[in-house]
Amino acid sequence: MKLQNMNNENMKKFNTTIVLEAIRRYEPVSRKELAIRTGLTSSSITNIVNRLLSLDLVVETSTAESSGGRKPIMLHLNPAARYVIGIELTTSRLLGIVTDFNSKKMCRISIPIDRFAESEIVIDQIVDLVGNLISKTEIPRNKIIGIAISAPGPYDHEEGILTNPPNFPKWKNVRIKDALETALDLKVSVIKETVAAAFGEYWLGGLGRDKCIFAINSMNIGLGGGVIIDGKIYRGFRDGAGDLGHMTIDVNGPKCSCGSYGCLEAMVSESNMRHIVNSHIKKGFETILTEFVDDIENISIKHIVQGAVSGDWLCKYAIDETAKYLGIGISNIINILSPDIIVIGGEMTIECPSYMEKAIEYVRNNLYPIYNKHVTIKSSSLGDEMCVIGAVCTTLHDFYGSL
Ligand SMILES: [Zn+2]
Repeated sequence: MKLQNMNNENMKKFNTTIVLEAIRRYEPVSRKELAIRTGLTSSSITNIVNRLLSLDLVVETSTAESSGGRKPIMLHLNPAARYVIGIELTTSRLLGIVTDFNSKKMCRISIPIDRFAESEIVIDQIVDLVGNLISKTEIPRNKIIGIAISAPGPYDHEEGILTNPPNFPKWKNVRIKDALETALDLKVSVIKETVAAAFGEYWLGGLGRDKCIFAINSMNIGLGGGVIIDGKIYRGFRDGAGDLGHMTIDVNGPKCSCGSYGCLEAMVSESNMRHIVNSHIKKGFETILTEFVDDIENISIKHIVQGAVSGDWLCKYAIDETAKYLGIGISNIINILSPDIIVIGGEMTIECPSYMEKAIEYVRNNLYPIYNKHVTIKSSSLGDEMCVIGAVCTTLHDFYGSL
């Protein structure tokens, strides 16, 4: 929004958002410091803070001693002012959390789902999960800002439609937002999981608006990306920006769930890692894996990680190969976007730490672009909650803008 086109109402919302953002980021913070941090006048700060106090969103304390005798009054967010429920939909489970107004987690429940089931069945599971989260935390319904759904793309964020997620074969144009709002009588927003992860990194990582952030979620099945530019989600045409999972890495590679061949998602999946070890075993390569299972079809990523730790050549090779493809994907992102920070999370990085280390090693050893040595590439500090907490952060951010 251009500043000169703002009317008074929009300017009030804009300034309120800036002040709440500053309190959240720098609390405990005095009114004087807020004026310095935001560039707003003392009288504007007084008016906005008075309104936030009257709405009970902010509270005052006076514990800090000043040099002049009078204790300065400090401002904090009121954690009990509002609550957000976050739900992450993955191919294997629903992860539900409740956070307070300070985005601090109060409760977590995870339940398995069947990705081959009809969408109605999983939506019913979400409704039950939300009910359980509310009853477990005993939060009042009138203080719930809304439910933030983190889900795989492709999707339509405005309508809250999951278009045709490739790993959910029976899901076509699922109006998940409408279905949940009707069932729960609460506001629902839908965001692609990796976009949520990137936003969470910006919101909770103390990063400036000038940083370009790219988040990668590498699951056992599925891989996606999300972009934050200038403190805002960059959506691209039809919310497709950052979707690196289906960039072609090897035209002769394995078939992907989208119908193409050799997509990054297919190359770095657990199933490709298993395919690499199984095909070598069938060719006669010796491996410790045959001591772990009776049938090589039952080999899992956990076995491969265990084998690699034991020094097994084939296990290490399978991890290195998949990590190399992730490294190629990251190098392509650096070439196209040149982000400041790349954050990587997801089951693959949690279950197999050397997978991410090897991927970063591949990127660092690439000769071009020369600045790839300076891009920060790191794992998410939020572990397996990076997407769901990120989704909650987008709902809190939207709430700030609604005041
Ligand atoms: Zn694909």
